[in-house]
Amino acid sequence: MTVIGLDDTDSRTRGMCTTYLATQLSKAIKQAGGSITRQLLIRLNPAIEFKTRGNAAVAIHTDFNATTAFEITQDLIEEYAEMSDVNTSPGVVVSPESPDAIPEVISQFSFKAIRERISIERASELASTAGYAQQGWDGGRGRIGALAAIGAWTGLDSWTFEQIAYREFDRCGTPRSIDTNSVFTAAEQGYPQTWDTVDREATETVCVPAAPGPILFGIRGDSIAATTTVADAIESEPVVQRTVFYTNQGTDQHLRDGKIGALEENKAYRVGGEVHTAPSTGPGGHVTFKIIDHRRNTAPFTCIAFEPTKRFRDHVRLLRVGDRLTVCGEVSAGSIKLEKFALEERVESAITTPNCPECSRTMKSAGRQQGYRCRRCNTREPGKVTVPIERDIEPGWYEVPPQARRHIAKPLVRGGFNGEIHPSR
Ligand code: ATP
Repeated sequence: MTVIGLDDTDSRTRGMCTTYLATQLSKAIKQAGGSITRQLLIRLNPAIEFKTRGNAAVAIHTDFNATTAFEITQDLIEEYAEMSDVNTSPGVVVSPESPDAIPEVISQFSFKAIRERISIERASELASTAGYAQQGWDGGRGRIGALAAIGAWTGLDSWTFEQIAYREFDRCGTPRSIDTNSVFTAAEQGYPQTWDTVDREATETVCVPAAPGPILFGIRGDSIAATTTVADAIESEPVVQRTVFYTNQGTDQHLRDGKIGALEENKAYRVGGEVHTAPSTGPGGHVTFKIIDHRRNTAPFTCIAFEPTKRFRDHVRLLRVGDRLTVCGEVSAGSIKLEKFALEERVESAITTPNCPECSRTMKSAGRQQGYRCRRCNTREPGKVTVPIERDIEPGWYEVPPQARRHIAKPLVRGGFNGEIHPSR
């Protein structure tokens, strides 16, 4: 068996796509007499600034000879990769092992590549020590993703699927011709086994990329069969090829448990805390508030729901000081960029100055230690009173809408969350 990993062949402006190269490579291997067991699409650390879009790397599992596979891959990268883009830095790594026999040190590397920052030197050294063939072009940064994609099969424990439909290559760059109604109908029928196909409220076809490139649409879901049913039902311009990828999309594998006061930049966390300042909407429509961990006496930490998270911000705005939360997101520039949060415990009451039982006006202090009184009605109260607060938000999990979801972020509808969920779709 052979595992081929490749990455960084695409360009933001010119519109190649590493998954397309993988599809071409699989075709070439089949033409040369090999067979393909599966293809993986692995989303790595979303905080990496070199990424073109979604920080994806791919791996191909095949019975083909490793040396020839390496040569074919090199040829195809030279033919298809967008080398003229200064930010494209392709890399290929080939292991002659069975995907199930990839050593632990490589699978640990994959896990790290999803959560941390890794150097090209580290990836290259590890690939050499493992005896893998490797090549990089224009710096060869893509070897980081390529090696991570190789280790993913043994390193990761949960899998989802994406079925990608490709356009005729010479149509790339022209508007995609897809019957939007068929997408919405198929998405409705496929939900929740398929997810993030559309954003119903924003009436956006999330499965259709905005960028130029050979992808017509990509259907994400919990099983291959579910993605096939949806893809079959979409009416569109000719599809030249459909490829199923095993992916770590929709898994939250980038999140780790963290604590306020010990959060590091460019890492993504799941953190508990209490709302410390009321949410406020700033310039640009971003909503911010601070959380604190009283038990650990921490300094307040800023949480931010950016404008593109759209209606998610309405939930954030309903939070009140004292609410107990779990927040999830990446730490960047000293704040957590919110992807989802759980309202664990709501503040249900407030201590306030009493109202007069006769005229309902707010009572005034009757003097130090004298309680409160209404001068008009001469009524008295011994002190402040606890009053219930009407809350417009239920406890449970809230998430950004499909149109704003990171590829690796887990949609609530996929389950596994403690408490109620309020999926956005
Ligand atoms: P697309 O979504 O269009 O496929 P992309 O967003 O995957 O593009 P790439 O062009 O692949 O972006 O660029 C990402 C680069 O970052 C690759 O060279 C990859 O090897 C590197 N990289 C990925 N993960 C890490 C990491 N954890 N540490 C350092 N570098 C990384």
